Amino acid sequence: MIEVKELTKDYHIRKGLFKPFNIVNAVKGVSFSINQGEKIGLIGLNGAGKSTLMKMMSGVLKPTSGSVRVNGFVPYKRENSFLKSIGVVMGQKSILLYDIPVKDSLKYYKEVYGIDDKTFKERLSYYDEILNLKELYETPVRKLSFGQRMRCELCASLLHNPKILFLDEPSIGLDAVSKLAVRDFIKRINAEKGTTVILTTHDMQDIEALTHRVMLIGKGQILLDGSLEELKKRVSDKKEVRIKHSGKTPTLCEGMNYLEQKDDKLKISLDPKMISVSEGIAYLSRETELIDLEVSDISAEEMVARLYKEYQI
Ligand code: ADP
Repeated sequence: MIEVKELTKDYHIRKGLFKPFNIVNAVKGVSFSINQGEKIGLIGLNGAGKSTLMKMMSGVLKPTSGSVRVNGFVPYKRENSFLKSIGVVMGQKSILLYDIPVKDSLKYYKEVYGIDDKTFKERLSYYDEILNLKELYETPVRKLSFGQRMRCELCASLLHNPKILFLDEPSIGLDAVSKLAVRDFIKRINAEKGTTVILTTHDMQDIEALTHRVMLIGKGQILLDGSLEELKKRVSDKKEVRIKHSGKTPTLCEGMNYLEQKDDKLKISLDPKMISVSEGIAYLSRETELIDLEVSDISAEEMVARLYKEYQI
């Protein structure tokens, strides 16, 4: 559905009228493909090229060279049928009309996309069920909190039921309740409507909750592309063991290392190549009085930190 080949974007910037142009290679010859229904997370430090890549896929920017095809369309040509097949939500930019009530903004997009009354009603009630919009319909957009606006933004961007949703930092600046509502919404439209979701994020919970495939972008290139599980394994096959104890702090045996210690809680990394998980647990329970125990793979956050280190980005 999305085919990207040798895609490149250079920005030409100059700091003054008579100054020479500087070239910034924001995206450097990347290639990948994405299938219908995938949930992709683009991660990387600021300036890595994530937004530029997303803007080329969504038709906001014309590539310098290489090609991008989205459902057969060339995005930057911005043909109507292409625009009707995508939804774009950029955290900082609003597509809602500032001074009028939310419901009128939604009606405006109903007309823009030529949606009939019955479908409009059905979609609104579907979106309202997940995003709790009804109470906001009469409020002018300028009076909405950021979280409320984001919920309305999602509704307006998806009113036409696009096949692909592009999201730039969907949960940045959101309060906890809106964050969950937004995540729930994205998960549901993917599961129930098969919408392809492509998002950039710095939020590791977003990645855990919303993506099944992660692309790590660094200096305009794709450094890694794989499932979260694969990436975690690649970085480390170590386990994280968290315990709460009421006895003395246990000394650790070979194959275990302290990660964090706070009062009666301890975070340990365990190397299964040196000691099996069950041996490790047996050892710890001999060492101290265990109250609680949890074994997990390393967290997404830690994974990303290590990847950044590995690739020195
Ligand atoms: P990210 O989304 O990963 O933070 P961007 O795609 O925004 O990265 O930026 C990639 C590189 O391109 C950065 O070096 C950035 O400064 C540069 N850049 C982005 N947009 C522009 C622009 N409109 N003009 C000039 N340079 C830009």
